[in-house]
Amino acid sequence: MKLKIACLPGDGIGPEIMSSAVQVLEQIAKSYQHDFTFSTNLFGGHAIDETGTSLPKETLDNCLNSDAVLLAAVGGPKWDQGVERPESGLLRLRKSLNLYANIRPVDVYDELVNHSPLKSEQVRNVSFVVVRELTGGIYFSEPRFHNENEATDTLSYTREEIERIVTYGFELAKTRKGKLTSVDKANVLESSKLWRKIVNELSSNYPEVEVEHILVDAAAMELIRNPRRFDVIVTENLFGDILSDEASMITGSLGMLPSASKSGKGPSLYEPIHGSAPDIAGQNKANPIAILRSVAMMLRDFNLVDEANSIENAIVNSINNGYLTGDLGGNSSTIEFTEQVVKELQFQT
Ligand code: ATP
Ligand code: MG
Repeated sequence: MKLKIACLPGDGIGPEIMSSAVQVLEQIAKSYQHDFTFSTNLFGGHAIDETGTSLPKETLDNCLNSDAVLLAAVGGPKWDQGVERPESGLLRLRKSLNLYANIRPVDVYDELVNHSPLKSEQVRNVSFVVVRELTGGIYFSEPRFHNENEATDTLSYTREEIERIVTYGFELAKTRKGKLTSVDKANVLESSKLWRKIVNELSSNYPEVEVEHILVDAAAMELIRNPRRFDVIVTENLFGDILSDEASMITGSLGMLPSASKSGKGPSLYEPIHGSAPDIAGQNKANPIAILRSVAMMLRDFNLVDEANSIENAIVNSINNGYLTGDLGGNSSTIEFTEQVVKELQFQT
């Protein structure tokens, strides 16, 4: 398969983990005879330094003309006080690519159950996915304003926006354990009442999927009490923002978790959920697992299932062979861990 991948290394540990991702993709291309091409694009703080904007037009155009976008991380203390913050480029990129669905798988590796802040018996075999609506709701609806004495935000959703994200959740649940948990606040919010109604309407198209509705406050509690009860969680933007961060901590290490953000058509964006980790930048210490698993999600979306599985297996085998970066209590460097994963890939194919 021919794939054009726009790489956005960004700031902090970004370039280090991007290099890891590209090496692994190059090995996959070699093992499975694919034609992957990579372009490196300015984005984030570095882009501000060089061009005055975090999302230069050339970068956006290149993303739009690629099959997929792979992003490492942006931001850092250097740019926190600036007129433009690197994170604003990320919001513009999401909006420009119409990335309405943010997908975060939360899988607890057997080898790492002791890293969870929850009890290991609570988190063993936890595997669920948070599907968050990413381009609507209170972060975007009008009117919005504030003055010295008053402030307003608006939470508004259209039927179309709800239908497409909920449909995404149903389709995903169908391919997994067949359970969809819709999270809302339908006892209080009008938007949630419509949300719940649409979930119920769509559920008749998916008789094989078990549906439950749960209020967001109860969902926050259940994620801690019994995370194993979840399979696919679907929710609106603000609730998803909060719950997906809570969910990600169940696994214990930010350095493990991938994400994908998708639009109906056009390129999707794949990125680790962690930030640019300025405290360890340039020290060859970053855990590349989150970006490598993001790469696996990307390949799966192009139906390169064996390739995706081989990356996941290579990661687990590397962990089992004692390769762990500092965040997981080991002493492997980013480069050592990556080399081990590449070796495992060569060995498998
Ligand atoms: P953001 O605001 O961009 O979401 P953040 O400021 O919340 O990010 P991170 O930059 O993700 O946080 O860093 C939080 C902590 O986790 C830091 O101590 C960082 O070193 C660590 N960390 C984050 N990602 C990794 C990684 N891939 N490998 C090792 N440590 C990491
Ligand atoms: Mg940060």
